[in-house]
Amino acid sequence: MSSVIIKPNRDGSIRRRHPWIFSGAVKDVKGNPGSGETVDVLGPDGKWLASGAYSPVSQIRVRVWTFNKDEEAGPSFFSNRIERSIKARDYMDFKKPTAALRLVNAESDGLPGLIVDRYADFLVCQFLSAGTEYWKKEIVKSLEGLAPSTGIYERSDSSSREKEGLAQAVGLIAGQEPPDLVEINEGPIGLLVDVRRGHKTGFYLDQRENRAMVPEFSEGADVLNCFSYSGGFGLMALKGGAGSLTNIDASSEALELALRNMELNRMEPGMCENLDGDAFNILRKFRDSGRSFGLIILDPPKFAESGSQVDGACRGYKDINLLAFKLLKPGGVLFTFSCSGHVGPALFQKVVADAALDAGRDARIIRYLGQSADHPIGLQFPEGQYLKGLICKAL
Ligand code: SAH
Repeated sequence: MSSVIIKPNRDGSIRRRHPWIFSGAVKDVKGNPGSGETVDVLGPDGKWLASGAYSPVSQIRVRVWTFNKDEEAGPSFFSNRIERSIKARDYMDFKKPTAALRLVNAESDGLPGLIVDRYADFLVCQFLSAGTEYWKKEIVKSLEGLAPSTGIYERSDSSSREKEGLAQAVGLIAGQEPPDLVEINEGPIGLLVDVRRGHKTGFYLDQRENRAMVPEFSEGADVLNCFSYSGGFGLMALKGGAGSLTNIDASSEALELALRNMELNRMEPGMCENLDGDAFNILRKFRDSGRSFGLIILDPPKFAESGSQVDGACRGYKDINLLAFKLLKPGGVLFTFSCSGHVGPALFQKVVADAALDAGRDARIIRYLGQSADHPIGLQFPEGQYLKGLICKAL
């Protein structure tokens, strides 16, 4: 087997079991490993530390499969890891045939680069690393055995594939084609998911537990669901007795789906206004026309793709939160989120505080939010934390 030798004094993170080995920490590569092939990782003293998938073009040169010398990437390794990942979710109540949840959350479940989401009886996978691409057949075979489904669909169309030197790949990889829209349930609501063309693998499962908190704050409220996608937060607000709902999204397909989701839940279409456009512009118009809301949800897309974009992202978060505070009725509630991993929770809180200050509003944080439990964060992999949110109550 080929091996990668780590530079002196650069083995600290591996010893702490962080799964990424950056190109700058590599002293030497012995052999000629191809993309995704397994390599041994040796310390500066030549001692075995780990084995992982080699990626010749990525800054992350090796993603560790195992720190245990008795384990080796291969069919039984993948079935063991996938089984462990599924079992770790046994305590969650996803027994309904229409349930939707993440079964494998990449690095944080010990499978770097592999995402597996279940939508009712279909699985949707992303193979985001050279190693998962290399072992795709074995992984799919394990999934067929461990998570029986009607079909397995691949959505490896994330931009992160490029960094690994991989082309995008989308299509059926096992079983039957999914229908145009897969129906799932989330607590009291039904949702239609477009696994072929929807965002990510089709839906934002990471927000499930946060959407579940919305009904508590919705009774009688005029609700603004900003960056609504297919309308999940808004449906929860209507379930909670909202007086009116306004969804804003820049994607007309997303808003069409939001309308279909209203019908699916037998909700009166007249209860919901869907605005197609840029949320920043629409909120400014609302401010100028003096509109106000009792509950506002802000769930923007990722503003920072890298560390160098953090400042610009914070300006974006500040603007949109400032506008939201201006539109919030006295006593109103704001759910505000950031899914940029590079913007940490403390920084995000500061930006929201600055936004309230500049809006001339006094507000309190009443809850800290994060990603749902089926999107765990490996303790040795803090990068796994990306979604953070605050529930703020204005005075
Ligand atoms: N809250 C949603 C997920 C939102 S994802 C849920 O619970 O499912 C972010 C959404 O913001 C996407 O649907 C995207 O189309 C939309 N979006 C991106 N930029 C936007 C902009 N400038 N104005 C309005 N919507 C935007």
